[in-house]
Amino acid sequence: LNKPKIVVLGAGYAGLTTTKRLIQKLSPEQAEIVLVNKHNYHYEATWLHEVAAGTITPNDARVMISDVINPNKARLIYDSVVEIKKDEKRVVLENSEITYDYLVVALGWKSNDFGIKGMAENAFAIEDIDSSRLISEHIEYQFAKFNSDEQAEDDSLNILIGGAGFTGIEFVGELAEKVPALCKKYDIDRSKVRIINVEAAPSILPMFDKDLVDYAKKSLEDRGVEIKIGAAISECTPEGFIVGEDNELIKAGTVVWTGGVKGSPVLGDSGFELTKGKVNVDSDLRMPGEENIFVIGDCSWVWNKEADRPYPPTAQLAMQEADVVAANLEALLTNQPLKDFVFDDKGTVASLGQSDGIGSIFSNYKLSGKRAAVMKKVVDNRSLYLMGGVKLVLKKGKMRPF
Ligand code: FAD
Ligand code: NAD
Repeated sequence: LNKPKIVVLGAGYAGLTTTKRLIQKLSPEQAEIVLVNKHNYHYEATWLHEVAAGTITPNDARVMISDVINPNKARLIYDSVVEIKKDEKRVVLENSEITYDYLVVALGWKSNDFGIKGMAENAFAIEDIDSSRLISEHIEYQFAKFNSDEQAEDDSLNILIGGAGFTGIEFVGELAEKVPALCKKYDIDRSKVRIINVEAAPSILPMFDKDLVDYAKKSLEDRGVEIKIGAAISECTPEGFIVGEDNELIKAGTVVWTGGVKGSPVLGDSGFELTKGKVNVDSDLRMPGEENIFVIGDCSWVWNKEADRPYPPTAQLAMQEADVVAANLEALLTNQPLKDFVFDDKGTVASLGQSDGIGSIFSNYKLSGKRAAVMKKVVDNRSLYLMGGVKLVLKKGKMRPF
């Protein structure tokens, strides 16, 4: 008899953890497990702002999938998913295709420019290893050419960031540390460089309490970051952002959009029913009406019944969903009832560079400064531990002092 085939799409926090847990739970006789991912590596998406600023290298944030998943226990396919044909239980890949009995869709997120004119063409976005590396290389190039280029524009060293949510703020926190190092390396006066973060809402990081927001704002401003709140970006031109009601043009040599994310475009291309770009899953994490398809991580919305709104998509949420999906797949294979997903919120920490941060953990215990930065490194190492055990923490963990 043929074994049931479980196909996991995406080796991010959600997909890699699901595959790991399936291998731990199921015997080789129970199911064939297949993991499909665009690259042969997983990347720590939560570290991409550091790659984009150049405070860590792309390799620091990458983990070879075969270091975490034993290729004898799961088939590893490195290819891009183009479309899921659910009526035929088939996934079309760029170079081949694959059938499944059970499917886990964990293809993650993409930057969302909300259709703002010129954004896609003229701004960088932090999306994956390659796009993040491009930003740090571009910034360094601006510095490298500044003194040698007589024609260099005054604003070529301006770094303009659109959106002061988590990603925008964590990115400018890293830039505030990187810029002085670049100024030293290329003999440029710090006063020639501006870091400008533009935000439409009346506050940065609205999910944190006001005292933590004030702390973050002061810490960044003390290190030379200019924060413009209540300033909506209406267009991005090759020169910079057009901002606010008076259509002010802010010019910069480096323009980065960090204004939000959306689910993988594969969802729409596969004709799935979407709410704000993602699948609204049932409480057992299955796609409504589909017995054999789970959608997790940043591709789905999971309803928080207490708050009557979906949980905000995070790596923390994605990894907890993976545990439940693996348990529910085991339940399906053994004719047991499926579990409902319940999120255990361990709190949130945002970095403001390598040695500063803010956080609210364990039901609103607040922390800031070095203690928050240490906690952030603990969180980063914990996620490595959950995916690859002590071996991965020793190989890729954040152990260095400030
Ligand atoms: P992803 O991590 O995006 O993984 C998706 C995987 O699928 C990737 O390996 C990708 O290569 C692959 N893939 C995509 N498309 C295809 C395709 N077509 N074919 C094949 N493979 C494909 N959350 C937190 O909880 N804490 C944090 O501190 C935090 N910090 C963040 C910092 C930044 C800068 C950013 C951008 C996000 C941060 N987040 C954080 C959010 C978190 O990164 C996401 O919620 C998380 O990545 C979602 O995990 P995922 O597995 O759904 O998707
Ligand atoms: P976000 O949606 O959290 O923030 C985007 C920001 O851009 C918002 O503040 C929004 O008001 C602003 N914005 C949108 N349109 C604008 C416009 N036209 N002009 C000016 N400002 C505009 O998106 P994000 O920061 O990319 O985060 C994406 C996801 O990743 C979130 O779910 C977040 O929780 C998660 N994340 C978590 C962490 C962490 O836990 N430390 C870090 C990074 C990201």
